[in-house]
Amino acid sequence: MTFQQFVGDAAYRRTYWARNHVGWRHVHRTRPNDGHLALARMEAAGAVVGVLTQNVDRLHQAAGSRAVIDLHGTYARVLCLGCGMVISRDELAVRLEALNPGFVEAVVADVEIAPDADAVIASTEGFTVADCEACGGLLKPDIVYFGENVPPARVARAMALVDGADALLDAGTSPTLTALAEALGDTHR
Ligand SMILES: [Zn+2]
Repeated sequence: MTFQQFVGDAAYRRTYWARNHVGWRHVHRTRPNDGHLALARMEAAGAVVGVLTQNVDRLHQAAGSRAVIDLHGTYARVLCLGCGMVISRDELAVRLEALNPGFVEAVVADVEIAPDADAVIASTEGFTVADCEACGGLLKPDIVYFGENVPPARVARAMALVDGADALLDAGTSPTLTALAEALGDTHR
């Protein structure tokens, strides 16, 4: 999904939020894996000073990591594009449920839930999207979409974290971390 798709097309937003509404109740079942737990233990032992992640699922925090920078944001928060107000996704879940009574029950028979809370459902007709309670603006997951940039202050914090470290452990393959490492030079590898 791109930022332009999200802000430019009401039908697209309705589909997104309808699927996300159905999927959200399942995401709390997701648990950190051995990799998340290992990094948390390394931080507790003083070997890791911080974690930079492109994941939006907050599983590092769930595993016990404390110094985490969510480069691409997190799906646990929702941002108003009008006034900048941030609310929790759990808070939005209550509002979406109130706006769409019975929707989940009607579609829940055979849904497939992706790790990002996207639920594959046949029809999203009739789903009512929630707007900002303060200003009526568009609500968007606090996630960096294609077509958006990571906020400069967040990039600066990430750079500072890497700059202050003796080594960078690249766990998994991710272009952003690789690019970050290259920007900071080989001395950090
Ligand atoms: Zn607003």
